Amino acid sequence: MSDQAKGEMTGSCVCGAVAFRTTGGAHPMSWCHCTLCRKYHGHALAAVAVPNDKIEWKAGAEDSIRWYHTSDTGQRGGCAKCGSALFFRSLGEDHISIAAGILDNPTQLETRDHIYTADKGDWYALEPDNAPRYEQDWPSEAHPYKG
Ligand SMILES: [Zn+2]
Ligand SMILES: [Zn+2]
Repeated sequence: MSDQAKGEMTGSCVCGAVAFRTTGGAHPMSWCHCTLCRKYHGHALAAVAVPNDKIEWKAGAEDSIRWYHTSDTGQRGGCAKCGSALFFRSLGEDHISIAAGILDNPTQLETRDHIYTADKGDWYALEPDNAPRYEQDWPSEAHPYKG
């Protein structure tokens, strides 16, 4: 698979009002176990960041996303119609993190690592993979899309 092909995916909410196609440029997938992700998405968030200019939205899709500030700089996006929890974005950044659960198979994604494991729910075990785990945010040398 070429790097060009990597990151070509489709996804949608439950009702289909928010649907999109990504045309490449996907970053590796990480799991976030922080409290905000768990509250908003109902569980730890497996997400893949995709540059804004690599996302092709279905007509009207962006108007169906309701963004909610969960911090001064971070927003969560869900479908205004069906309530599906879909996205995370940081203001000023050029990509959107897409919840991997809303993507259609095959995604070709693999777990890169786990972050904020110190905040994870006490009722589940981490996915039994060998991916690196960080108790808080990524250390700078392991950050997938900063710097
Ligand atoms: Zn929907
Ligand atoms: Zn999180």
